[in-house]
Amino acid sequence: MRAVLGIIATIWMGAAPVWAQDLSAIARLLPETSSITDSGRGVSLDLTISQSVPWRVRVLDTPPRLILDTREVDFAQIAAVPRRSDAVVDLRAGVFRPGWSRLVLELSGPFAVKSAAMDTAGTEGARINVTLAPASQQDFAVLAAAPEPEGWALPKPADVPKVLPHGAGPLVVVLDPGHGGIDPGAENDGHREADLVLTFAREFKEALQRSGDFLVILTRDEDVFVPLEARISVARAAGANVLISLHADALAEGDASGATLYTLSNDATDEASKALAERHDRDDLLAGIDLTEQDDLIAHVLMDMARTQTTPRVDRLAEALKAEIKAEGLRMHRKPIQSGGFSVLKSPDIPSILIELGFLSSDRDLAHLTDPAWRARMIAALGTGLTKWAAAEAALNGGQ
Ligand SMILES: [Zn+2]
Repeated sequence: MRAVLGIIATIWMGAAPVWAQDLSAIARLLPETSSITDSGRGVSLDLTISQSVPWRVRVLDTPPRLILDTREVDFAQIAAVPRRSDAVVDLRAGVFRPGWSRLVLELSGPFAVKSAAMDTAGTEGARINVTLAPASQQDFAVLAAAPEPEGWALPKPADVPKVLPHGAGPLVVVLDPGHGGIDPGAENDGHREADLVLTFAREFKEALQRSGDFLVILTRDEDVFVPLEARISVARAAGANVLISLHADALAEGDASGATLYTLSNDATDEASKALAERHDRDDLLAGIDLTEQDDLIAHVLMDMARTQTTPRVDRLAEALKAEIKAEGLRMHRKPIQSGGFSVLKSPDIPSILIELGFLSSDRDLAHLTDPAWRARMIAALGTGLTKWAAAEAALNGGQ
């Protein structure tokens, strides 16, 4: 028997009886009695959770990583867990789906789960121990490709009401607050990009709907991870006329500041744009989603045709938004319209644009983003830009 068969591919654990525990509180990680340690050639992951929860572990590839899914656990203290490991090169944790959390340990190479257990006998909550052993690339590939176990069904990420396409009704706008849950996005001075863009999106939605000219749907309305593909699915299910993805990233390069409008292109404007697009795909991948879906040739041709019509509409949208942001006297990046290979913009037939409202790496931009008055001005500018663009497009289409 091959060694790999003796190794655990995916482990799904029911919670032990928890009668005596307070079930109303969300379980939380207790960092003082948790650790991540290299032992021999393997790794030992020890986590103390304030109460027992259903959980499972599995490995995924490209890059190799260990995924630990649990009923919702507050992992806010994950950075405080002592880490003595060369094998674990990165880790992140947070809400993955409503009611479910995910911890991702990025590994330096192929490892297999040797053992996984939860001990609820102690006085202090539940202790999860997972040990990893080095595996061959071949064995690891088998483990990483293992299907989800039966009975393991996370809630679907995109559950939005279907809005029927329409002619002269309100413009259907899908607002996409970037990041969320396990993926906080950029961070500066205690502020997380995921929170800032969610606040902005909610206020933007409120303002657009109040005008009566728009029907607005958010791809997420809470601090939850939504895969990039699911964000596109939301726009499609909603019959969106336009998708606006909202971000406020950090850029290492120089003193990037001011709002920037990004359109889709395989040829990024510059290295910074390229890196920004790649990082968003990487964040998505690390959270456990497989982006390797292949399009066949016919689908490609059809998509190219649709995109030929959509691209000039997106370019006009970018110009319309830029004009209003400038008219409002708000700062823009020295190159206000840029392009890159952002996956969330890849709907061939839905005009899609990504707005970096500012850069969290800039203190001035951070001050703007946290200022309700600044946000109201930006929202007014974007709303006016959208209205003018929609009117111009309708005129181009013969008043449709
Ligand atoms: Zn972002």
